[in-house]
Amino acid sequence: MENKKSNFSEWYNEIIEISGLSDKRYPIKGMNVWMPYGLKAMQNIDRTIRESVDSRNFQEVQFPVLITRDQLSVEFEHVKGFEKEVFWVTRGGMEPLDVEMALRPTSEAAMYGMYSLWIRSHADLPLRLYQIVNVYRYETKHTRSFIRIREIHFFEAHTAHDTYEDAERQMHQYMEIWGEISSRLCLPFEVHQRPDWDKFPGARYTLAFDTLLPGGRSLQVGTIHQYGTNFSKTYDIKYLKDDGEHEYANQTTFGLSERLLAAVIGIHGDDHGLIFPPDVAPTQVVVVPIPSKKVDTGAFAKEIQQTLLSQGFRCTIDDRENYTPGFKYNDWEMRGVPMRIEIGEREVNSGTAVLVSRHDRKKTKVPIGEVAEWTSTILQGVKDTLTERAGKYFGENKHHIGKLDDLAKAEGFVIAGWCGDQECASKIEERYEFGTLGISPDDTEEKKCIVCGKPGRNGTFSRSY
Ligand code: ZN
Repeated sequence: MENKKSNFSEWYNEIIEISGLSDKRYPIKGMNVWMPYGLKAMQNIDRTIRESVDSRNFQEVQFPVLITRDQLSVEFEHVKGFEKEVFWVTRGGMEPLDVEMALRPTSEAAMYGMYSLWIRSHADLPLRLYQIVNVYRYETKHTRSFIRIREIHFFEAHTAHDTYEDAERQMHQYMEIWGEISSRLCLPFEVHQRPDWDKFPGARYTLAFDTLLPGGRSLQVGTIHQYGTNFSKTYDIKYLKDDGEHEYANQTTFGLSERLLAAVIGIHGDDHGLIFPPDVAPTQVVVVPIPSKKVDTGAFAKEIQQTLLSQGFRCTIDDRENYTPGFKYNDWEMRGVPMRIEIGEREVNSGTAVLVSRHDRKKTKVPIGEVAEWTSTILQGVKDTLTERAGKYFGENKHHIGKLDDLAKAEGFVIAGWCGDQECASKIEERYEFGTLGISPDDTEEKKCIVCGKPGRNGTFSRSY
């Protein structure tokens, strides 16, 4: 396998292929096949998302994939922002369509016409809906599995509120939800308010969650957007107030995608392969019986599997013939299973099991009656260690710089005084191919711009995916 540290890009492509997450040989560029193992991991990520939003009274919906040109062509900056990325459907069978249709690049245009029918009075608010569907963007840059693709596995929440203040409360709740999800995925992140020229088309402001992959490039893994009444004015989403007046609703959105899986793969894996956080792992525990002529290790292993399944662990037994235990250990390590259990003659005779954690390969021998308890402890240990390791790398790759030339050697998140002007940002961007991630909402320290010297705040810049 490629060395992860010195050759991250090749390591990433290789591990996705050999671990059976995705197959990119499908004949359309940027549209890859989700293989069973990858799909299970993504479904587990989706479950963490669903659990967080469902517990806060969001409801799941599914809108159609097609949007008419009329729905999309409302005179509005949102549409202009997506113009170059839309796939158009222009024919039905042999007939040209009267109205051309677009494959949704995102679902504002699909949903908000319906919101204007559904929202009538104060009693209909707040409205909190989400869907997990595929969206389509005609990506022209170089594609990369789970990171830059044309068919995107997309979580999108869309809310409507009576006041701007209530929409702001929703933005805060998104941060809380994101905190839960990122902690279950053991992902460190920074929040950046994107500069105006890079905010979501049509939004008042955009906050993005940025993480850092090995090699020092940042990856945007989630965004939340405050729309205010920008969209409701375009799509005529109004409610009747108590005093008989009509008022436009305030709206927000929250978007996540399979980039979460990309971050999990890239951040946690090592030179032996993937390491899945327990909440994401398709298999949390694999039991490997070591063949013996004297005792039935297979039957003993099955008992352990049953115990763990009944306790809610995702547990597989590897009783494939014609493969050595050593081969199986390597295979499951490569596929990132957080813990394995080895059962040999000695374990059967002494009523014990050997538990091995993936991230440090530490072996723990435990009595058979305590396997479930130890499994919880070890999986929690995997989670804690992944979080700690990722946080350490993250911390080591944040660099404050005082002058423009310092950029030459900088990697990761580069933090520098910035006045907020696009002109100064482009000087930073052009010289060293850095992108402007924006300012951190929590960092209000005053700093002089390293380009023009005017007063400003800390801006964050990075090379990014
Ligand atoms: Zn400046």
